[in-house]
Amino acid sequence: MTVELVTTGSELMLGRVLNTHQQWLCRQLADRGYVVDRQVAVPDTAEAIPTAVREALGRADLVITTGGLGPTSDDRTRELLASLLGRELRHDPAVEEGIRRYFTSRGRPVPDRCLIEALVPEGAGVLPNAHGTAPGLAIRVEPNPYRVGGVPSLVIMLPGPPRELRPMFLDQVVPIFTRELPPPGTFVCRTLRTTGLGESWMEDRLAGPLAGLVADGLEIGYCARVGEVDVRLVSRGDGAVERVAAAEGIVRREAGDHVFGVDDENLESVLVRELTAAGRTLALAESCTGGFIAHRITNVPGASRVLRAGLVTYSNDAKRSLLGVEGRTLELHGAVSEATAREMAAGARRATGADLALAVTGIAGPDGGSDAKPVGTVFLAVEGPDGGVVRRQLNAFDRETFKYLTAQQGLMMLRRLMGGGGGA
Ligand code: ATP
Repeated sequence: MTVELVTTGSELMLGRVLNTHQQWLCRQLADRGYVVDRQVAVPDTAEAIPTAVREALGRADLVITTGGLGPTSDDRTRELLASLLGRELRHDPAVEEGIRRYFTSRGRPVPDRCLIEALVPEGAGVLPNAHGTAPGLAIRVEPNPYRVGGVPSLVIMLPGPPRELRPMFLDQVVPIFTRELPPPGTFVCRTLRTTGLGESWMEDRLAGPLAGLVADGLEIGYCARVGEVDVRLVSRGDGAVERVAAAEGIVRREAGDHVFGVDDENLESVLVRELTAAGRTLALAESCTGGFIAHRITNVPGASRVLRAGLVTYSNDAKRSLLGVEGRTLELHGAVSEATAREMAAGARRATGADLALAVTGIAGPDGGSDAKPVGTVFLAVEGPDGGVVRRQLNAFDRETFKYLTAQQGLMMLRRLMGGGGGA
């Protein structure tokens, strides 16, 4: 099975828009056992689009294009591909009706230009757009004049805006290609998400125990990001489910509670789920992370059930007046200290009545460090009804990375305080 992706748009060539479709579509396809063989991005020109699609049709069973289905003069994919494939464009009254409904339901006049989106290449399937007006299109090219022996190909055209493309792909395109081009045999892909361990540690530790399964057809991939490493376990064919399950057991045994989730889960969503299940509430007292931990938690639907408050106490005054940190503690130990972090967490619990609190105080840099407390030093304190823990970390990176890592460590400490993930 050969899959190729053609992303179109001059804005991609000019560096005005990051080509997220390449990453997102490759990921969605790979998770379902369809690994993309080639991806190209081309400008919106009458030469580049048909050339790229013709070349892809010469090799691929599935060709996905993105962009250029809208109403403006640079949106030419529909017309150019219809001409490449020798299909006439026909007016589709049902599509026009959908476009009219889209505007009238929003109390807006129907722009004449948009009606061009109701032109559908002969024989194409229409993929209604739930979040916009330009429908996607699916065309079976059979026989395929660009392929030796006329072997058929499936061409899927998707709109450019990610908020239109993504749901259309998941709801309408996945069922089409999994039905028409089923992957040979079983395909299993599971990603274990870990934090607090490096990529090389992971590989050193896992290579030996997983060797037998690898010899049997297991594929392992590592993907390192700030504060996280994903371990991807893939297997195909007979026994794939069992191989991946056995491998997961080994990774969990070796990495322990550093494995916080699977596939698309993130640390904050796992923590919110665990807090909700335990009926516990949370308060945050942040200094150097400036509310970033609260931001991550509040990105999770249902966060209001667990988060009581997040206080950004940047100045010493705020730490004193809002959290009750002792003036003496600040004088004696400084704002960035174990004692201050501990009092911040205790103060956050006291002020909000939350069951658990996390406090962070540190030196993000680039200035403000000393020999005793270099830039990147951070103290994290968690406190619950049965006591607390304080940790000192050195996260000597740029400010953004510093915040992300610190948040990661704090969220992990909260999970451990609750006994989440089985570790203490
Ligand atoms: P419309 O013109 O109706 O918005 P369209 O199907 O013609 O839809 P384009 O005009 O090609 O789509 O792209 C619309 C917008 O979608 C672009 O301005 C850009 O913000 C976004 N977009 C397009 N291609 C990509 C891509 N590869 N990755 C991320 N965003 C993209």
